[in-house]
Amino acid sequence: MSRTILHIDMDAFFAAVEQNDHPEWRGKPVVVGSDPQGGRGRGVVSTCSYEARRFGIHSAMPISRAWKLNPEAIYVRPRGRRYAGVSRQVMDLLSSFSPDIEQLSIDEAFLDITSTQKLFGGTEAMAVRIKAEIRAQTNLTASIGVAPNKFVAKIASDLRKPDGLVIVPEGGVEAFLAPLEISRLWGCGPKTVPVMQAMGIFTIGDLAARSQKELVDRFGQTGLHFWRLARGLDERPVSDAHTARSMSHETTFMTDCGDEEEMRKTLLGLCDDLAYDMRRHQVRGRTITLKIRLADFSTFTRSHSLERATDSSAELYQQALQLFSSFRREGQRVRLLGVALSQLQQGEGQMELFREGDGRSEKVDSIMDDVRKKFGAGAISRASLLHKRSDSQWIRE
Ligand SMILES: [Mg+2]
Repeated sequence: MSRTILHIDMDAFFAAVEQNDHPEWRGKPVVVGSDPQGGRGRGVVSTCSYEARRFGIHSAMPISRAWKLNPEAIYVRPRGRRYAGVSRQVMDLLSSFSPDIEQLSIDEAFLDITSTQKLFGGTEAMAVRIKAEIRAQTNLTASIGVAPNKFVAKIASDLRKPDGLVIVPEGGVEAFLAPLEISRLWGCGPKTVPVMQAMGIFTIGDLAARSQKELVDRFGQTGLHFWRLARGLDERPVSDAHTARSMSHETTFMTDCGDEEEMRKTLLGLCDDLAYDMRRHQVRGRTITLKIRLADFSTFTRSHSLERATDSSAELYQQALQLFSSFRREGQRVRLLGVALSQLQQGEGQMELFREGDGRSEKVDSIMDDVRKKFGAGAISRASLLHKRSDSQWIRE
């Protein structure tokens, strides 16, 4: 049966919220991210307003580079709780249009409107109405892509930002995809693009012209995935079962770090913060990923999956430390460390009963949680955690 899927994506979300809350910033370049410290800051841009983008500033760019491009811009630190509040408002609103919603991140979601679009006068009328209601309730704009599946809807929402609406009809999927660059395909990153280009494949249309056999011979199972996506084939349902795919914390050192002790303390702090988030959201994760960015900006990840999902600081730290210790960085200093947990499972289950150990580390965790709730996250740190870290970064388009 044919489906109608919407991908709704808020425009320059954090920056737009800031401009909304500070009317004097409207129409001006606003950069949400770490402290630029007069051009010496070491974090990155989280989101910036469209006015800032005109100066060449974009998300994930080092904040020092943004500063060089425009020292006059308004630089603000992220206010996570405020953005989460607006996000909840938007997601609640979307849920009133269809029960089949899948939140992808703080500012984007899929909505399957196959069964409800008739109630709202059809696809286009419904998409227009959703945009209008988001604007009425939050004074913010969203871009929407409409397509027969998730993959195409997500590409469509990105094409006419900000305040865009792109509808790809059932029979128009291949023609819509054909002229687009292959880098838009999921799984076609900076390593794969040059390989494809060497094969003479530059657009999704080029890819669609190749045989399944050629792509599988070259890329294995991923080749089959590319072959299907290039034809706009994507059967995945919109589902809230795995709404949050991973949770993570990362930090950029004030100066590139070569001190093992300092790095271990930082890892411990990241694991504490992450485990606290997990417990607060009542989720556990099975796969721990360590992210390391070296002084030369090369970035690596190392993962390990546990037998059972965890939300314990101690267990996370033990695993992260093991990944860290076995990573060879050939004497290079470290710029950034991050820890993520994925393969998340919801709920306080009976897992509790099967946990090993004397329960001591769980007790420590729950005491720390209580103190944090009372006095805020900055109030407590393990005895060995005595230095100050910068905040974790969120990157949002
Ligand atoms: Mg967005």
